[in-house]
Amino acid sequence: MLSVIIPAYNEERMVEHAYHIIHRILERESILHEIIFIDDGSSDETYKRISALAKDYPHVNGLHFSRNFGKEAAISAGLAAAVGDCAVVIDCDLQHPPQKIVEMYHLWEQGFEIVEGIKLSRGEESKLRSFAANAFYSVLSSLIGFDMSNASDFKLLDRKVIDILNSIPERKGFFRAISYWVGYNKTTVEFEVSERTEGTSKWSTVGLIKYAVSNISAYSTIPMQLVTVLGIMMLIITCIFGVWALVDKIQGRALEGMTTVIIITIFIGSIMMISLGIIGYYVARIYEEIKGRPKYIVSASCKSKQAIHD
Ligand code: UDP
Ligand code: MG
Repeated sequence: MLSVIIPAYNEERMVEHAYHIIHRILERESILHEIIFIDDGSSDETYKRISALAKDYPHVNGLHFSRNFGKEAAISAGLAAAVGDCAVVIDCDLQHPPQKIVEMYHLWEQGFEIVEGIKLSRGEESKLRSFAANAFYSVLSSLIGFDMSNASDFKLLDRKVIDILNSIPERKGFFRAISYWVGYNKTTVEFEVSERTEGTSKWSTVGLIKYAVSNISAYSTIPMQLVTVLGIMMLIITCIFGVWALVDKIQGRALEGMTTVIIITIFIGSIMMISLGIIGYYVARIYEEIKGRPKYIVSASCKSKQAIHD
């Protein structure tokens, strides 16, 4: 059986549409499935629509978060709730083409354990946003050592992979990269990002920047090692200036060079502040993880009466 995991945040206008389209496609192909909607603490009628679907149709499973925990948390909850032999994660706005699920499923049947959806293009986006996204992915790809530039959350995972992801206690994961990290037998399916037909993107610019920083730090400690490199560079520069100052002193020209002193002081000050900031960021992450709070809180759930038979 295939579990379809759909994170939904303020998607009241898309929930039913997404259900019908996905259900129809899978039924036509006689792929046994369940559809799990995770309402990520929406403030609109999303959960109401999900529970109505669960009442009226078979194979629907709904979870409601007590507040907005983010798409990553929603995906985790979906993976934990999935009972299928494999699961696919797809956006509620159908920007990931649902027809591709069938192709992914057949690849899974052929023995692939992870089927990655790869974006052919990024859809309609402002120039600035696509520049920022490219910059983020190239930094991330070089830091973590996989090419992530066209990666997406649209993936099909085998039960083995789902069980492993479920057993990882990390609070702040990054679904897009973690499936690279686990390894396994992978293949890809290319897709065009469709236009969003209803509602708007849920990402603000500040949200995206936070997301970028948080994911880079989740996969790489290189920024912290950079602090050491900066320290060494500063030491070398300081040695050169130190010798210079001593020579000045010996030659009786000690008062000159005040400007240099000021510039160096400011420079060292800023490097120290930045370095402390980077270290502080990682300390904060350790603190977050060590508190061991749950990734999300499910405050309500619903299930279709009609059971899904194998
Ligand atoms: N989403 C979510 N929680 C959030 C933000 C988004 O579950 O805090 C869901 C959203 O409902 C959609 C998917 O994640 O199904 C992708 O979101 P969106 O379309 O806003 O992102 P974009 O396509 O712009 O990357
Ligand atoms: Mg979208």
